Amino acid sequence: MAKYKLEYIWLDGYKPVQNLRGKTQIKEFASFPKLEELPLWGFDGSSTQQAPGGSSDCVLKPVAVYPDSTRKNGVLVMCEVYNADGTPHISNSRATILDDADTWFGFEQEYFLYQDGRPLGFPEGGYPAPQGPYYCGAGYKNVGDIARQIVEEHLDLCLEAGINHEGINAEVASGQWEFQIFGKGSKKAADDVWMARYLLVRLCEKYGIDVEFHCKPIRGVYNTPLDWNGSGMHSNFSTKFMREVGGKEYFEKLMAAFAKNMSEHVAVYGPDNHFRLTGLHETQSIDKFTWGIADRGSSIRVPHAFVKNGYKGYLEDRRPNSAANPYDVASRILKTIAEVPAK
Ligand code: ADP
Ligand code: MN
Ligand code: MN
Ligand code: MN
Repeated sequence: MAKYKLEYIWLDGYKPVQNLRGKTQIKEFASFPKLEELPLWGFDGSSTQQAPGGSSDCVLKPVAVYPDSTRKNGVLVMCEVYNADGTPHISNSRATILDDADTWFGFEQEYFLYQDGRPLGFPEGGYPAPQGPYYCGAGYKNVGDIARQIVEEHLDLCLEAGINHEGINAEVASGQWEFQIFGKGSKKAADDVWMARYLLVRLCEKYGIDVEFHCKPIRGVYNTPLDWNGSGMHSNFSTKFMREVGGKEYFEKLMAAFAKNMSEHVAVYGPDNHFRLTGLHETQSIDKFTWGIADRGSSIRVPHAFVKNGYKGYLEDRRPNSAANPYDVASRILKTIAEVPAK
């Protein structure tokens, strides 16, 4: 038997963006614990905006488990939050989202690394050289001396945790980066995104750096737009039907359903998205729905390969932002897809 350190991680009740919380309990197991072996646990919901003080107990139910390579016998346990009566807590959207193992999601998580209240590379009280060289850039003047170390360490942590991490790149703004997570099914893909976010946030502690997930952190006075990109969480998706059958007629019906549900999508695509979806900086305006082949100024980008393969493959919804909840994004996409008969 060995003593394992189980980090139970959950989403709190803050609005409009939920924060990740975690606490450790020690339990003995003969070997690395399986999900079924992990007990329910609880926490004080009055400290996380999930319960009133007079009746503060919330329940943590393990739903996914990952090795934590930063700790001896470390285990990362993704949890859902339940009320004492066994019903899902209102903050727990995972419990009720649509899921389908044959629908695949690829999330591109963009974020800024912040120190002393500004992005890495930004001088105090001013701006660095304009955007241009930072995207996929190399060299101290473009990426500094610490960001790459963090990004590389984070990549290794994710891979060691078994997260389906697919890649990384420096982004368009100074101090801005991206990682990509792929998963089959909305719960699997989104669990991996949340766990990767957790690992990044926790890793940055020792560097005195914070992760800024806001979708447009760099704005001028009175929110005037500046020439600095925002952060998205482009959501790539493909159903079995889209991958194997597809076709132009189906695609056009699908896009009509996305157009019809524009507001319902934007409602779960992350707060403050009007600062980001302006029609500039590789975005479409928040009040327009368009699709375009290889067009990064559209709401949905259709890859060249999709058209070449007879309208088969995956599509990229570019509207979800960096602070969006991937459970809700994936579920909304599935809901709209379900409105279109696949035949
Ligand atoms: P770009 O920056 O050009 O938009 P990325 O390479 O950053 O593209 O991201 C592409 C994303 O598409 C990845 O997250 C990848 O996992 C995802 N993806 C690739 N194929 C599929 C598919 N069949 N279904 C869903 N997502 C996919
Ligand atoms: Mn990308
Ligand atoms: Mn990107
Ligand atoms: Mn993209």
